[in-house]
Amino acid sequence: MINIILFGAPGAGKGTQANKLIEKYQLVHLSTGDLLRSEIAKKTDLGIAAKKVIDRGELVPDEVVIGMIDRKLEEHKNSNGFIFDGFPRTTPQAVALDRLLADRKKPILAMIALLVEEEELIKRLLNRGKDSGRTDDQELSIIENRIKVYTNETAPLAEYYTSKNKYVGIKGVGSIDDIFGRISDTIDKLK
Ligand code: ATP
Ligand code: MG
Repeated sequence: MINIILFGAPGAGKGTQANKLIEKYQLVHLSTGDLLRSEIAKKTDLGIAAKKVIDRGELVPDEVVIGMIDRKLEEHKNSNGFIFDGFPRTTPQAVALDRLLADRKKPILAMIALLVEEEELIKRLLNRGKDSGRTDDQELSIIENRIKVYTNETAPLAEYYTSKNKYVGIKGVGSIDDIFGRISDTIDKLK
């Protein structure tokens, strides 16, 4: 069982690396950002409410994303493991994840953090905004707010997992394959 939290600021490359990791290790990708965007596309009540928050660069309420993760864990009960991408993003989310995984006897192997400096993050996100159509990537002030929210609410989770001896930081700059190699080496040593 390989359960990995891919961690990092907006634009750190979590989604890109998650897609490669699920192939290599046969894991299920759980991205709360992707799940929320799918609700937005379907124009569900949840999606309509989430879009307002996401377009300001703020976080969706904890109970909403925790509920989504709970349902997905249940749906993929027999998987080899999960890549958590964009979750947990707050301390209450991390505490809830601990409980959800403890109930199912599926511990976290590691939190792998992709380390990228702010200037590079902003460059990547503005670039993605040009062709992805993601409304939260199109305006500098929104991107800056997301980075601020990340610094204040999400970055402290690095200490939470360090205290459990689960935190590994990885250089998130370079070619996609080089970064993937670094992540795979880390997983292979731990598994
Ligand atoms: P990356 O580019 O590294 O994949 P990102 O931050 O640009 O990361 P997503 O993870 O897709 O993009 O998240 C997009 C938005 O969805 C967030 O800014 C936030 O509003 C909302 N969101 C996603 N996950 C959560 C979560 N766990 N808790 C609260 N809000 C979330
Ligand atoms: Mg993403």
